[in-house]
Amino acid sequence: MADADDSKATGGCQCGHVRYELTAPPTDLYVCHCRECRAQSASAFGISVIVDGGDIRLVSGTPSVWTREATVGGTLDCHFCPHCGTRLFHGTLAPGETVSVKGGSLDVPPDLSGAKHIWTSRKLPGVVIPDHVETWPEEPE
Ligand SMILES: [Zn+2]
Ligand SMILES: [Zn+2]
Repeated sequence: MADADDSKATGGCQCGHVRYELTAPPTDLYVCHCRECRAQSASAFGISVIVDGGDIRLVSGTPSVWTREATVGGTLDCHFCPHCGTRLFHGTLAPGETVSVKGGSLDVPPDLSGAKHIWTSRKLPGVVIPDHVETWPEEPE
């Protein structure tokens, strides 16, 4: 029988200062093409692995927080490594809160073949979305 700990997803920043583990499996997976995700990732799109804020356990290091206005109203806490700047989580790290873990920070990166693509109206030319997946031109309803 497999040890339950073996199935826990782990991740961290680029320099290794901040390390975390997810104590429960993610509930959803999004590829977001919005301008904010392009800016936070400094790349073509953001990968959001959705978990409950109580299911993220920091193993080492303390992320810094930058707070911005959320597109849907209110504010959003953006957690990042104070040394290398890697963005790690968006949201409040408390039980009952929806948190987006930045997908590229996971040691085993997510399989994007079934991911939902959102804000496709902002998609960069040349980025190809698989035919069969759920897509939303803007924020999903
Ligand atoms: Zn770092
Ligand atoms: Zn986005």
